[in-house]
Amino acid sequence: MPQSQTQAQLSNPPLSLYIHIPWCVRKCPYCDFNSHALKGEIPFSRYIEALLKDLEADLPQVWGRQVHSIFIGGGTPSLFPAAAIAELISGVRARISVSPAAEITMEANPGTLEHDSFTAYLEAGINRFSLGAQSFSDRQLKTLGRIHASDEILQAVAGLKSAGAENFNLDLMFGLPGQTQSQALADLQAAIDCSPSHISHYQLTMEPNTLFAHKPPPGLPDNDQLADIQDSCAVLLQSAGFVQYEVSAWARTARQGDNRSQHNLNYWRFGDYLGVGAGAHAKITLAAEGRVVRMAKHRHPDAYLEDRDGTFICEQRQLENKDLVFEFFLNQLRLKAGVRKADFPARTGLPWQQVAGQVKQAMEEGLLTDQGEYLSTSNRGWQHLNTLQAIFL
Ligand code: SF4
Repeated sequence: MPQSQTQAQLSNPPLSLYIHIPWCVRKCPYCDFNSHALKGEIPFSRYIEALLKDLEADLPQVWGRQVHSIFIGGGTPSLFPAAAIAELISGVRARISVSPAAEITMEANPGTLEHDSFTAYLEAGINRFSLGAQSFSDRQLKTLGRIHASDEILQAVAGLKSAGAENFNLDLMFGLPGQTQSQALADLQAAIDCSPSHISHYQLTMEPNTLFAHKPPPGLPDNDQLADIQDSCAVLLQSAGFVQYEVSAWARTARQGDNRSQHNLNYWRFGDYLGVGAGAHAKITLAAEGRVVRMAKHRHPDAYLEDRDGTFICEQRQLENKDLVFEFFLNQLRLKAGVRKADFPARTGLPWQQVAGQVKQAMEEGLLTDQGEYLSTSNRGWQHLNTLQAIFL
C-alpha cells in the first residue's frame, strides 16, 4: 500500500550501484562481511553473467535514473582479473546510464594483485581504488589473519603510483591487540607517507559471529587507551592535511577536487543504491508510489549462482515510517557536516514535525546544535554518537 503521507514530499535521491564479489583467499578472524574462503577456482564468467542478470532484474525499479557512483567491494574484488572487471563495467554501462563523471571504485587487497597491473584496471574503467592495508606492522597483520605483509602494501602503493592512480583510499585499523598509542601513530604515519587521497581509519571491533568474538585476542586496548589513540591520530591526520567528514573517513584536501568517497557519501546522506551480487543490499525510493524499499540478494555464492526464481532476491520489504526516521538519522548523524534538514522530507517523505520532539530532546541534552540548514552533532554528541542515534530509534 502506498503511504499517502509520503507521496507529497518524497523525491528520488541520487542513485549508486554496489557490486559484491564474495570470495577471499581466506577468512580473517575479525571479518563479518559476506566473504567466503576460496575453495578451488572462482567461476568468473558465471558470476559476471549472474551479476548482469541480477542488475537487469532490478532495472524496472529504477527506470530512467542514472547511476552516479559504482563500488565493487567484497570479499576481494582484486581476485578478478582486469579483463573480467572490464566485461563487468561495460556490461553495466550497456544496461543502465552511468554518469560520465561517476566515481568507480574497486577494493583491492595487497597480496592478491598478481593478476594485472593497476593500469589494466584503470583501462577497465576503475577510477578509484580502496586498498585494504589495515596495518603496517607485520606482527599485527599476522594477528589479524591477513595474507599480506607490510612490504606488499608498499608494492601495491608503488603500483598505483606508477599507473598514475592518484585517487586511492587506504583502510587502516586502530585498537589492535597490544597496540600502544605510539604504535598506532607510527602505523598511521606509514599510511600518510603513502600519500593516499583518502584514509578510512577505523577501530577493530569484535563483531558477532566472528572468530574474534568467540575468542578475542589478548591485549585489546581499553576505552581510555582507545580514546587517547583516536585523539592523537586525529591530530596527526589533521596536521597531514586530512579532513574528517564522517566517523571513520578522512579526505585529503591539499589536492585538486573532492577526495571524499562519493559512493559512501551517498549512503550516509540516505541516497539510493542498487546492490548486485551475493548478499548485496539495496535501498530504492519509489517516489511515484510514495514508498522506499530494501532488498537483499541470496547470501551464499552457490545459492546466488543457482538463483532458482530469476530475481536473485531473498528478502524485500517496504520501510515503515519508524524505519525511515531511524535509518535517515543513523546515517546522516555519521557526517561531520551534520543532518541536512531539507533532506529529511525529500528522502523519507515525512514532515519535519515527525521528529521535532526527538530533535528537541537531543538539543536539550547538548548532543545536537541547530546551525540553520544543518543540525550538527556537538562535541558531546560526537563522543556519545550511539546515544544520540538511539534517540531516533
Ligand atoms: S580480506 Fe576483507 S573481506 Fe576478506 S575476509 Fe579479510 S576482512 Fe573479510
